[in-house]
Formats: sequence, structure tokens, C-alpha cells
Amino acid sequence: MGKTTIAIMGNPNSGKTTLFNKLTGSNQHVGNWPGVTVDRKTGQIIYASQSVDVVDLPGIYSLSPYTQEEIIAREFVLSDELDGILNIVDATNIERNLYLTMQLIALGLPMIIALNFIDDCRAQGIKIDCNAMSEALGVRVIPISARRGENMQELLEAVTGTLKKPARQPTYLHGVGAAIRQVAGLLEPLPLRRASLPFYACKLLEGDTHAYQSVAMPDQIRHEVSHIALGLCSHQNATDNQMIIADALYDFIEGVVRKSYIRPEKHTLTPTERIDRIVMNKWLALPIFALIMCVMFLTTFGAPGSLLMDMLDGLIQGKLSPLVETLLVNAGASDWAIGLVCDGVIGGVGGVVSFLPQIIILFFFLSILEDTGYLARIAFIMDTLLRKIGLSGKSFVPMLMGFGCTTPAVMAARTMENEKDRRMTIMLTPFMSCGAKLPVYALFAGAFFPDHAGIVTISLYVLGIFMAILAGFLLKKTVFRGVSSGFVLELPTYRLPTFKGTIRNMWVRAKDFLTKAGTIIFLMSVLIWLLQNFTLSFTVAENSADSILGQFGQTLAPVFAPLGFGSWEAAVSLLAGLVAKEAVVSTLSVLFGVGGDSTMLSSILANSFTPLAGYCFLVFILLYMPCMSAFATIKREMGGWRWAFGSALFQIGLAWLAAFVIHTIGSIILL
Ligand code: GDP
Ligand code: MG
Repeated sequence: MGKTTIAIMGNPNSGKTTLFNKLTGSNQHVGNWPGVTVDRKTGQIIYASQSVDVVDLPGIYSLSPYTQEEIIAREFVLSDELDGILNIVDATNIERNLYLTMQLIALGLPMIIALNFIDDCRAQGIKIDCNAMSEALGVRVIPISARRGENMQELLEAVTGTLKKPARQPTYLHGVGAAIRQVAGLLEPLPLRRASLPFYACKLLEGDTHAYQSVAMPDQIRHEVSHIALGLCSHQNATDNQMIIADALYDFIEGVVRKSYIRPEKHTLTPTERIDRIVMNKWLALPIFALIMCVMFLTTFGAPGSLLMDMLDGLIQGKLSPLVETLLVNAGASDWAIGLVCDGVIGGVGGVVSFLPQIIILFFFLSILEDTGYLARIAFIMDTLLRKIGLSGKSFVPMLMGFGCTTPAVMAARTMENEKDRRMTIMLTPFMSCGAKLPVYALFAGAFFPDHAGIVTISLYVLGIFMAILAGFLLKKTVFRGVSSGFVLELPTYRLPTFKGTIRNMWVRAKDFLTKAGTIIFLMSVLIWLLQNFTLSFTVAENSADSILGQFGQTLAPVFAPLGFGSWEAAVSLLAGLVAKEAVVSTLSVLFGVGGDSTMLSSILANSFTPLAGYCFLVFILLYMPCMSAFATIKREMGGWRWAFGSALFQIGLAWLAAFVIHTIGSIILL
């Protein structure tokens, strides 16, 4: 007998991951679905010497694909890889959840329903007759609580034992049933899984474009199918078959619920409704939201996060680096080898490791926000606003975090289910002025606009937001054209997050960052160190101007001439800024030979650029590509070099244009 593979399918927040973890324990593996950055979790259920492979599919509301997740789920479910479905249903939200169930049933695959949140139902006084529900749906229904592990035994037995028989085709859908059977009959000669014909028939009747693309119908059959579809419309006096079928499904669901589901007599407010009375109150929603965001931002990037970061930094730079240096000196290593190991390697590793505290703290918050259900409310509050620039409400958190540091901010975009929204958010986050750019602003604003340093700095923050909006419009019209995900309509029930789940989430992200982004950051820092310390003929560079990076900067300088700062020092410092934005300041001090004297650096700068050019330099710093750790993270999160370089070029291009426009207009005004 071959291997059996089943998928856990259900609405978002129905408890899929909790159940998956309960069933598979530690036998699991996280990867990506081919070509996209959506997590693909697989695991093994081992019970009574039987083994079944399980896939945790992304949460979806229907099998009509709009989002990347729905496309993945649908493709997987129609592939030959799948032998059965474990449909998890949130029993506290029964009608909405059964809508997906009905579509899954139409697939005709062996299926079991795990009726989850049975503990919450008890608490709310909801009574469910699982036998009656089972009877009405034609699928076995097992009540469980994934979180408390209730009834896992029965579920495991069912999954490894009886999940063999196909689900019965229910005799549902008055009025449309005939049309579905007719179309299914027409499809019979085609090479499609027989049991799934009702599903294809439904989708074709709905006019689903994906179905029309994936089912290769001869013209004759296509004609007849459209004929039946049109007939359905006109017969029911409606304009849209999708509506007709959805209505029929909900009619049927209502019948099922009436037979098997008893709500408590008197409707008392559920805890969620009570909390939302305050949290989503017209007056209180925004202040509470702002407060939570402040706490999250300040803890991540303020004292706690930066304290840990400095401690790690101190440990690596202050203890590890001197220790290794002594060891190398004693071993008689050459100067450049010591430099490579201490500055290049340890510096690079230190650079990676020092982000860890921020990432761990941020994911602690995100994990809690997501699990409690508040993230969905943030999305709800911000949706209307962010939709206007083609983003979703969930982009707000990554964007906000971008003001702290782009690297964790880009990772925060993982909370977004929609692939398009996520990519777009990742591309726009770097425009938020990160903390590392502040020292550069301070230096230049102090040098050129000593009386207006504050205004100059604020103007840069505002310009960043403005450019993100502009870039959002641009991207929406070009790269990310097409349908966007639907509005957030439903607010999930508030749930207490579990300690284990939170820790697991933090650990997974930290590990991911260290291994995937870390390797790239490490290699890049070594490379840049080499470029900074060697000449083109591979001898040790005496001064920065002779190094490969210096030479490259000098070649590059004319590109910046139209922006007002065409000096080679500026170009080299911009290149050094790719390592970390603060490095712009230290590089300039080295190049101008002022050591650590910032007053002198200011006066030299004030003499070498006009104030307008100085401002344009800052504009360029604000907008050009993010530092290499952010770049490596973007590569990792976007799932490819093409996207990473694409977004870097896009940002550099916009930075150049913006600085050019400001410089040109400024020159005309000042003339
Ligand atoms: P997913 O989005 O479908 O993967 O859902 P999760 O597994 O992440 O669960 C969402 C939330 O519901 C988490 O906070 C879980 O702890 C909680 N949860 C899951 N199953 C149950 C259950 O049976 N009872 C209760 N009370 N909470 C549950
Ligand atoms: Mg999940």
C-alpha cells in the first residue's frame, strides 16, 4: 500500500496549526510552497503502527482562489498528491465555516470533520448533536478541542483508520442540483478525477476563470456548459451564478444547523463582544491602538531591545574580538588575516547576531497580537486608509516597525496572508526612515542648517512616507496590478495565546533569520571588508581612496553630480552605507581625515557642498537601498535574488529621481 497524505483544511484561526502540532508532535517540517513564500508545513501522524503524512494548508474561506493562499490550497487539493481531507471547523462560527466544508465535500475525497472549539461551545452554552450533523452532511463529525487535546484519541483512530471512504455526495442545492449534475455529466469523458466532478461543475457554473483555464474542454462541451450556466441565471432571475450557488449552499447549511445545533436561549454577550465594546469603541479604538503600538515599538527599539543589542555587541566586539586577535597575533598571523577575521568575519557575525534581540522581541509581540485576534482588528482599523495605496490593513505593523529598523520590519510582513500585499509591503517598508539614518541626518542638518536641524529631520521622515505612498501607487499600477485581497469583514474571537505557541513562533523566526539571512549577511560583510581593504592589484590598501571600494566610488561619483554631491568622498561613503547606514558618518570622517572630531567634519562638509546639495544627499540616504542585512532579509522573505535586486534598483532609482528633482527645483528657486 502506498503512502497516505491528508491535508488539514479550514478557515483562518480555526485551530489548524494547533491541531497539526497536537497530531504530529515533533514530526514536522516547515518549508515553502514552490515559487512562493507561503509556509508549507508537513508532518507525520503515527498511531497504532500506522503512519499518515499531514500537510497544514493555509487558512482559507473558500475554494474560489483570489489570494495566493487560496490558489495554493486549491491546487494542492486538486492534485493527485492528496488522499483525504481533515476539515477543521470552528464550532463557535458554524455557518461561515461550513461554507468551506460544503465546497470540500464537492471534491468527493475521503473526509472527516473535526469540530473544534468544543470547549468554548460548552462555556457559551451551545449544544451540538454531532450524529445529526454527521447524518445531514454525509461526513463523519468528531467534536474536539485542539487546544486542550480533547478527543484526540477518537480523531487519531479516525484519521489512521476510517479516513478511507469517500465523502457521500449530499443531495443538496435545490434548484441548482440539476444543473450541477448535468454539467458533471458533460465533464465525464475528460481526464479529471471522477469523484471531484461536482466540484468542477460548480466552479464552471459560477464562471470561475481558474476552472475555465484548468479544465481543457473541447468546444462542444464548453458550449453546452455555458448554455447551462446561462440557463441557470435566467431561470432564477438573477444576474450572477456565484450568488445563486452561494445562496443554495447557505440554505443547505441552515438546514444542517437547524437539525444539529442549539444556541443558548437568552443571548448573553460573549467575552469577545464584551471586549470589543471597549477595544473597538468609536472613541477608544484609536487611543488603545496607538498605546499598544507605542508599547510594542518602544520595547522593540527602545531601551529593552537596544540594551540587549548593546550587550551582545559589547560581548562580541569587546570580548570576543580582542580574544581572537590575541590568539591570532600569538599564532603569528599576518595583519590582513587578523583584520579579515576580526573586522570582516566577527564584525559580520556580530552584525547578524545583534539584530536577534529586536527580532525576538518583535515576534513575541506579533505572535501575541496574532493569536489573541487583535492583529485582525488592527487590520480592520487601518484597512480603509491603507487600501488607498494598494496595501492592506495588516501592512501597518511592518511599516511602523520600519521606523525602527528595516530588518525586523520586513520579517513582520510574514503576518500577512496575501502574497501580493506582503511583497508590496516589503518593498515600501525601507522608505520608512530607520533609526540608523538618524546619525547621518544629525551630522548634515547640524552642518548645513544649524538653526533648522529639527525641521530638516522631520521633513525627511515626511518625505519617506510621501515616497512610500507614491511608490505604492506606482507599484499598484505596474508590478502588482490586478485583484487585491478582500476587505477584512470578520473579526475573530479573542483567544488567550499559549506560552508554547508564542515561544515556538519566536524560536522559528529567530532560527530562520540566523540561518537564512545570516549566511548572506555574513558573506556580504566579508566581501565588503575585502573591497574596502584591498586595491585592484590585490595588495593591502594604504588608504581608503586606493581600495577597490574607493576606486569604484570615484568612478561612480559623476552619477551623483546632477544631484549636487558629485564628490568621490560622498560616493564612497554611500557605498559604505550599504553595510550599515551609520557607516556613512564614520566613512566620511576617515576620508576627510578628521578622526573622531565631528565639529571639524561639519565645517569641512559645509565647505565642500552647498546646503541644497547637503539636503539632497540626505534625501538620497533616506531613499536608496536599505543596508545589507535588510537586503538579505528582503531576499529571504521575497524568495529570490530577482525580487531583492529588483526592489533595490527600484529604490535606488526613486532615490536618484527624488534627489534630482529636489536639486533642480531648488537650484531654480535659489537662483
Ligand atoms: P490556525 O490559524 O487555523 O492555524 O489557528 P491556530 O491553530 O493558530 O489557532 C488560533 C487560536 O485558537 C490560538 O490562539 C489557539 O490557541 C486557539 N485554539 C485552537 N484550538 C482551540 C480550542 O479547541 N479551544 C480553544 N479555546 N482555543 C483554541
Ligand atoms: Mg496556522
